[in-house]
Amino acid sequence: MSLLKSSNLGYPRIGVNREWKKTLEAFWAGKLSDSDLILQLEAIRLGHLKVQKEKGIDIIPVNDFSLYDHMLDTATMFGLVPKRFAYEGGKVPVSTYYAMARGDKGATACEMTKWFNTNYHYIVPEFNETEPVLTENRPLQAYQEAKDKLGIEGKPVLIGLYTFLKLSKGYKQDQIEELVQKLIPLYSQILVELEQAGAKWVQIDEPILVTSLTEVEIKLVQAIYAELNEAAPGLKIMLQTYFESVEHYQEIVSLPVQGIGLDFVHGFTSNLQAIEAHGFPEDKVLGVGLIDGRGIWRADFPSKLGLLEKVSAIVPYERLIVQPSCSLLHVPVTTKPETKLEAVLKNALAFADEKLDEIVLLAQAVSTGLDSVSAKLEENQRALKALDEDPSRNKKSVQAAVKEIYEKQSTRNNGFAERRVVQQEKWQLPFLPTTTIGSFPQSAEIRQARQKWRKSEWTNEQYEKFVQEQIKAWIELQEQIGLDVLVHGEFERTDMVEFFGEKLDGFAFTLNGWVQSYGSRCVKPPIIFGDVQFTDTMTVAESVYAQSLTSKPVKGMLTGPITILNWSFVRDDMTREQVSYQIALALREEVESLERAGIEMIQVDEPALREGLPLKRADWEHYLNWAVLAFRVATSTVKDTTQIHTHMCYCEFHDIIDSIRALDADVISIETSRSHGELIHSFEEYTYDKGIGLGVYDIHSPRVPSEEEMVSMIDRALKVLDPALFWINPDCGLKTRGMEETVASLRVMVQATEAVRERR
Ligand code: GLN
Ligand code: ZN
Repeated sequence: MSLLKSSNLGYPRIGVNREWKKTLEAFWAGKLSDSDLILQLEAIRLGHLKVQKEKGIDIIPVNDFSLYDHMLDTATMFGLVPKRFAYEGGKVPVSTYYAMARGDKGATACEMTKWFNTNYHYIVPEFNETEPVLTENRPLQAYQEAKDKLGIEGKPVLIGLYTFLKLSKGYKQDQIEELVQKLIPLYSQILVELEQAGAKWVQIDEPILVTSLTEVEIKLVQAIYAELNEAAPGLKIMLQTYFESVEHYQEIVSLPVQGIGLDFVHGFTSNLQAIEAHGFPEDKVLGVGLIDGRGIWRADFPSKLGLLEKVSAIVPYERLIVQPSCSLLHVPVTTKPETKLEAVLKNALAFADEKLDEIVLLAQAVSTGLDSVSAKLEENQRALKALDEDPSRNKKSVQAAVKEIYEKQSTRNNGFAERRVVQQEKWQLPFLPTTTIGSFPQSAEIRQARQKWRKSEWTNEQYEKFVQEQIKAWIELQEQIGLDVLVHGEFERTDMVEFFGEKLDGFAFTLNGWVQSYGSRCVKPPIIFGDVQFTDTMTVAESVYAQSLTSKPVKGMLTGPITILNWSFVRDDMTREQVSYQIALALREEVESLERAGIEMIQVDEPALREGLPLKRADWEHYLNWAVLAFRVATSTVKDTTQIHTHMCYCEFHDIIDSIRALDADVISIETSRSHGELIHSFEEYTYDKGIGLGVYDIHSPRVPSEEEMVSMIDRALKVLDPALFWINPDCGLKTRGMEETVASLRVMVQATEAVRERR
């Protein structure tokens, strides 16, 4: 028996070669029967358990696997199926489960939203139409499967009652207690059955405990765990938190459970301080989330061991468990297939499998002494040192430029009032100018062309010529449709971050570094490993070509620094703030290059600005300050007549409105259609006095909206916003839409605009 135990909180579902994704998609396409699906998923799931066992993890999680999403699993386990899916009780059939996730025969899918501050999205459970009942015991099934098939004594994982409820919808604030009372017996039954089956530990995830809860809520959490603990006294509860430090430390560690899991990466300082200041109960086990479950870098062993030692002065090793900071769902599976990365970078990476090795090694270092792992410790230090000293990370000029940002100009020469006058004169735009957000449909033909080019079947010239043809066709189309401000269409980009990452210094791309974003959709985020530097213009050629074809203005189109940052894996040897300034300085060069080349309307998209908001309110201001500064660094050195646009894909604005104003963009376009009422409402309360376009139609659906619908959207917006500053545009880019519906919708948009113009 080792002195210090190792554990995991959750393993990626997708598989080394994304076999999970492929299985799901084959099933949806009708290529797999229900039983094939179940069998194939079982093989994947057991494979993942075996990996963890072989690595030597002492406490292996089960029920972290899913057919789509763990929140949806929990909702369906409790029979929370909205009426529109015609569910008749009992165990929820697979077809109903997927209908909720993806929509089916007229029944729209359930809402999906971000899982805390990660890029994982969960299906939002709805409480308004059904009473929760226990339809099956998934944690128990997973526990028994691991035991029977692999002899693994697993640790079932389930989403905690309070987190589940807080992330659900379809109830009013004053119903919370009643719903808690309804859920307690269901959770109790799950735990009782696990206890009877012989389970020793259960991991109950309550990440909501890292957000700001009121005293009343803490009382409720206390009541919940008092009851759950009593229900199955022989089963030990590991109450797991992650993504930040817990607020209300003392109340939480005093909850009637047998273990508390804390994040010692993302909530490192506060959690450690809390333990040092208040101690830790002697009757509990502490799960030390030591290895970053969200980052991709190898751990620095000396500092991790140092931290363990500090913690062990308060909680002895016998009562500690070393584990990742959160589920490994958020990192790719393994670095093994990365044969194309430079050795110095690859050696410094740790994806899920490598993180498990690190956890085992740390446990071993404590249990059997440093000498037993000295070769591995040395190798770890060599790899990290090599990365640290790599020239790509030590570009003096870039780092010096960032230091100067604070003094350098990050404010436009004149305020918006002055700019507005000269811009009006220069651009001579009509009342209610019409435009689009940037991308046009990416047909199969375009994707194939890019593939040919990437595989070197096409030369650069061939590919560029192809892109030019697309641009030309769409400039003509936009003119025919009658839009006022045109775009080149972004045909040369697969992804708005990858495109810039490939052209800037400091980024690397993996072959196989996929992570689940939602359902079967996986993303492969770029890695920002070095100092980010501009090397050559990235968008000028396409923009200049597009502009040469028309007398109407063509907007340049860039992805903003914060979006590039938030959609990448980021180096952790400097702050995100510093990295964002490096990106901003590189983008500034692109902005200036565009301006010099005669592109004097430039859109800098920041759809991910809001996503980066810290979990704790108290940290918002700091983040927003540097995020706004980064945007301004990128966009503020242009002439007064140059018009800076920005775009954001969401409409929750009221709580960050000051920061939106502070961006000082001349024009902002934002998504509106899906929660029109809310957004308009916020503009009743808050003034916005720069150019603004509220999306007048939803681009997530292929439906072509009617002129009346759009007119009424415009009319409602004009009641709360200055008509002279109002722009007309769709909600977002049109990349994923079909050609026909796109042209049809844009024509209606222009007609609707003309109708409103005539009335005025
Ligand atoms: N300019 C980008 C596009 O049109 C914006 C995408 C986004 O907002 N996510 O596709
Ligand atoms: Zn958008």
